[in-house]
Amino acid sequence: MNDLAERDRAVIWHPFTQMQTAPAPISIARGKGSILYGTDGREYLDMISSWWVNLHGHAHPHIAQRVAEQLQTLEHVIFADFTHEPAVELAERLLAILPQNQKRVFYSDNGSTAVEVALKMAFQYWHNLGLLRRKVVALENAYHGDTFGAMAVGGRSAFTAPFAPFLFDVDYLPTPIPGEEADVLKRAEALFTDDTAAFIVEPLVQGAGGMVMYQPEILDKLIRLARQYGALIIADEVMTGFGRTGRLFASDHLTEKPDLMCLSKGLTGGTMALSITTCTQAIYEAFLSTDKHKTLFHGHSFTANPLACAASLASMDLLLSAETQQAIQRIVQKHSAFARQLAAYSTVENIRQQGTLLAFDLRAGEQTSYFNSIRDAAYTFLLEQGILMRPLGNVLYLMPPYCTTNEQLDYTYAKIKELLHTL
Ligand SMILES: *Cc1c(COP(=O)(O)O)cnc(C)c1O
Repeated sequence: MNDLAERDRAVIWHPFTQMQTAPAPISIARGKGSILYGTDGREYLDMISSWWVNLHGHAHPHIAQRVAEQLQTLEHVIFADFTHEPAVELAERLLAILPQNQKRVFYSDNGSTAVEVALKMAFQYWHNLGLLRRKVVALENAYHGDTFGAMAVGGRSAFTAPFAPFLFDVDYLPTPIPGEEADVLKRAEALFTDDTAAFIVEPLVQGAGGMVMYQPEILDKLIRLARQYGALIIADEVMTGFGRTGRLFASDHLTEKPDLMCLSKGLTGGTMALSITTCTQAIYEAFLSTDKHKTLFHGHSFTANPLACAASLASMDLLLSAETQQAIQRIVQKHSAFARQLAAYSTVENIRQQGTLLAFDLRAGEQTSYFNSIRDAAYTFLLEQGILMRPLGNVLYLMPPYCTTNEQLDYTYAKIKELLHTL
């Protein structure tokens, strides 16, 4: 164990980590492009975009420059009663690329809070209209974050079990994966009622739930059904946003656009903590009143932090460039070709792709949970080959930054094949 890892061990409590049994953390000194450099000189190809946040590679000079300039101009200012250029410009530029019905941007600072805000907007929308609606419909297996409201609308699992008594009730629909669509639609017909306040989904890809993918057509149908009962639609695009699905947003694949959207992770290109919740004009207007009780009483200390907004503006420059848009399509093509090769492996099943996201299940025998050992074996094997991937149970997935080169992808594909031969 190196010095930094030892000092870490003495003082740090890591996220999602059983501290008693976890191996020593890997010390990272710096990053460039898709590569992370360890303090011991080892290199790791970051094929999961550092927990799904990084879009353009690490320590990108354009983002660094823009944040550095902002840091010398205005680092932060209270966002109630005050405003600043980066927040306004970012909202303008985001609304220009989001589905056209999205009209207002509310800032917070991580994906979970973006979901909390969307839920509070939805509940208070009905409250402000003087209509009582209590029910939320969500998908089984969903992940919407780790704060209480976000946990409540997520699928119930070992992760939420200790908190189950404290989570509000939610009605769940099974994920409409290919083959299950008709059944799910039938279940939905019985589930949506005039009491449904909101229907929340991770559109097309359930990330933390195991990169479970489903088609836009069935989501359109479910949204239309929910709308027959007047329910508000919340698209949690915290993971799917900013190009991951091959389009800018997963909602771009849909005919039916959501009423509320949650974005974070890639929002700043993975540089800083920032998130937004956006909504339609109708939702916004339900909060307008001379009666102060109709105000959305929500905010965070670092709401619309100028540095984070500057990082986001720089990331947008890069994301919308022809170069990045071509890179996204290049990765989509490379993944497709690799997916076809994977089909020949008996140790692989359930191969699925949505844009730059490619996932498949390792045939795991009896145990197929997050806690099983095939996961640890795969994780360790790939790490030893200098590839950072973090299987979700027996689900192996690729979510590379868009700057990842063909050589880096080919290297990763080859090592995955080697791994498959060892299973
Ligand atoms: C990661 C994630 C969240 C939570 O975001 P945090 O920034 O980790 O709080 C919410 N929803 C989805 C779909 C996510 O993938």
